[in-house]
Amino acid sequence: MINLYDILKIANGQLFGEPAANLFTDFCLDAQNVGENQLFVALRTDRGDTHQYIEEAIQNGISGVLCVDPPTCDTTNVSVLMVNDTVDALLLWSQHTLKKLQVETIAVIGSSGKSASVDAITHVLKNKYETLAGNIDIAGKLSIPLSLIHLTAEHDYVVLKLAPAIPGEMDDMIEAVNPKIAVLMNIDCVHPATFEDCKQYTDEQAKLLRAIPPDGLVIINYDDNHTRALSNRVQAGVRVRTVSIDRFGADIFAFNVKVGIERIGFDLRYDGERYVARWSPILGKHHLYGLLAAIQIADFADIDIEDALKSLTELASLSGRMALLEGVNGCVLIDDSFAASFASTMAALDWLDEVHHDGQRTILVLGDMDNLGINSRNAHRTIGQRASDFVDYIITQGVESALSGRAAIDSGMNISHVTTTYSTQDVISALKDLKLTQQDIVLVKGGLQTGMERTVAALLKNPDDIQRLVRQETLQQDDMPLLRPSWVEIDADALASNVQIIRQNLADDVSLMAVVKADAYGHGAVLVARTALGNGAEYLGVASMAEAVELRDAGIRAPILVLTYAPAESARQAHQLDITLTVFDLEQANLYDRMARTVTGKLKVHIKLDTGMGRLGIFVDDAIRAFRHLQTLNNLEIEGIYTHFSSADEDFEYTSHQVEDFRMGIRPLRAAGINVKYTHAANSPATIANANNHFNLVRPGLILYGLEPSEKTPLWDKMRPVLSWKTKVLQVKHFPSGHPIGYGRTYHTRGNETIAILPVGYADGFRRAPNTWEYVLIHGQKAPIVGRVSMEKCAVKVTHIKDIRAGDEVVLLGQQGDEHISAEMIANWLNTSNYEVVTNIIPRVPRR
Ligand SMILES: *Cc1c(COP(=O)(O)O)cnc(C)c1O
Repeated sequence: MINLYDILKIANGQLFGEPAANLFTDFCLDAQNVGENQLFVALRTDRGDTHQYIEEAIQNGISGVLCVDPPTCDTTNVSVLMVNDTVDALLLWSQHTLKKLQVETIAVIGSSGKSASVDAITHVLKNKYETLAGNIDIAGKLSIPLSLIHLTAEHDYVVLKLAPAIPGEMDDMIEAVNPKIAVLMNIDCVHPATFEDCKQYTDEQAKLLRAIPPDGLVIINYDDNHTRALSNRVQAGVRVRTVSIDRFGADIFAFNVKVGIERIGFDLRYDGERYVARWSPILGKHHLYGLLAAIQIADFADIDIEDALKSLTELASLSGRMALLEGVNGCVLIDDSFAASFASTMAALDWLDEVHHDGQRTILVLGDMDNLGINSRNAHRTIGQRASDFVDYIITQGVESALSGRAAIDSGMNISHVTTTYSTQDVISALKDLKLTQQDIVLVKGGLQTGMERTVAALLKNPDDIQRLVRQETLQQDDMPLLRPSWVEIDADALASNVQIIRQNLADDVSLMAVVKADAYGHGAVLVARTALGNGAEYLGVASMAEAVELRDAGIRAPILVLTYAPAESARQAHQLDITLTVFDLEQANLYDRMARTVTGKLKVHIKLDTGMGRLGIFVDDAIRAFRHLQTLNNLEIEGIYTHFSSADEDFEYTSHQVEDFRMGIRPLRAAGINVKYTHAANSPATIANANNHFNLVRPGLILYGLEPSEKTPLWDKMRPVLSWKTKVLQVKHFPSGHPIGYGRTYHTRGNETIAILPVGYADGFRRAPNTWEYVLIHGQKAPIVGRVSMEKCAVKVTHIKDIRAGDEVVLLGQQGDEHISAEMIANWLNTSNYEVVTNIIPRVPRR
């Protein structure tokens, strides 16, 4: 229970208006998810301010509000308490509550395995004491008050995880909870990105050890070099105990450890005494340290060691932490989807290596590990290398874990056993392709933000088991720090489904070439290429050798056609990398042929005919002569012939003339003794307009991305845009009437106006002249651009938008609430095409 007047007093708060309820059952952080008698806490973090959601929380039935600034909405019948800082207030409340109820605190710290330890310790203490487990799944200070809500005077102990999210937080945490017992699990030097280096991270953890009072207890992992070195950081007189697996130097250690697929068995040596074999239903050696710590704490709290050992045989697995589930077709499914530090991912792999037996296929499904900053790339590579030691198949999901897949291939893993994807849907279809059986063991692991539990859910044999998966708290929505001021979000599921829809509209003998030139129209070439290939495309089209090489470097093996120019000097490289070139001129064909003299086999080319586009290509009238000549070039393999339409989006008649000319142009091919595999012509509008344009391969670009070629050639049903472009409000300012805004003072405020400054400008592709966007979206409302767009910034008018603050999300392209801005609308504003809108978002804007 949370008493309003407790917080009022201890946090030096101030009531706003008449209070209504004064007792609350829980804190509420998500205005969309309000329970009975809850207190909404408005939080200000570097990611935004939930003050703006107070009104929504009230509408959803909140009983009280804790905030910093006075709310601007109607608060009748709701208690509103204002404090200097909401998180500080909650910490003071935590401190007060622990003191008042006289409950002892046990704090568990370290890089991984904290939740399992909290669980084991709680379980053992319950032999004799009322104990509360504080297993709240968020890092940082807030986890403390959230853990203490259900604390009562009946409790003797509370076991908390302390995970400082930024340097310095540990001090505040210690002050709030005053722990008597500390358990230090391990220290992973691949630390969170918010810490400068391993030393800073280690020092932060060590603060807790120093804070333990002389009548307290510190338990340290003896097998971890970093933690062992910290045993001297405690105050004089504090009892320090070490736990270990197999090391005689430790005070308490497990030996004869038997790692099984369902449980772990061990003998125990405690202060020189030996206790025999116990099994505990936990998975992974790394979780054994938590059990050993629990036994030590039991002894400290006068619980018999045999009793403690016995209760450890009854542990239940925690959701998402090496939880054993039954998967489809009876496969063994290990759900480790709760979170992924480097250490916990490594430990999960070590476990898998140890338990799998011959004849069993091991499959690793890996999402990006949690925010590791500069360590991330190396960490992901190392995981891939480790996996390649024994794993049979790797399926990755996301940009970072793609590096793990790549590293596994570089370490010798068969490329066809590594699948790189960017969406849940593609992971699931890759798993389907593996035709899982009882002989398979699938480990699903990934960071908080990758939501790998969705994959686990799709793999369950028994749908009811879905209740055993980790729940995604709303707080995790957007945990990425904003290194760049604006970003592009790619909906890989939308992309996958667009490709499938295109595929469904093609006859069986028509192949699909996904055109991914210009970094896949600004969507990210590698991601798009892989997703398209995974969903029905067979061929890729690019504009240059550089683009083709980028795809090969990423490990993509599918055929690639360079649609524009490749210099003759690159012909040998093209052959070596199996890249197909375009021949649009005989002199160029001669050069290619000459360069290809020294290769074994032939250089693959497609011939391009000009049937009225008036750009690259051989005229139809010259085709016969050209074919005869090409036939004499022995080092070229003519794999295809194509043409390009100039007006397929608007003039169907002209297009049909081009089709006829093309048919005429290719007729003499056979006579010249040339048999091509592919004949193709259709870009996006031509693909949609008429199956007569398809020949036996189509080359759509635009529609892959859910963009509409023209009103005359509307997208097929259910196709949807893939790209959104977003930023955040940088500053909100109130201007008096007549104040100039931006370079050249082209706009003056017309009354008291609120203006929001956004960190996006023409250098990002947010065009300045002659026209720019009419408006962007904030809080689901239109905010018109005012003044000139600068290189890095622009200004929007937000006078009419309530409670707007720095950090609020802004949509430049995409959906927000009921409003949306499409690439087509922007094209209209800029007097250009949707093609140009998306390709102008420059690559320095990161793709997520
Ligand atoms: C870009 C391009 C395409 C794809 O055009 P969309 O209109 O985006 O479908 C197809 N063929 C060639 C030769 C291209 O250059």
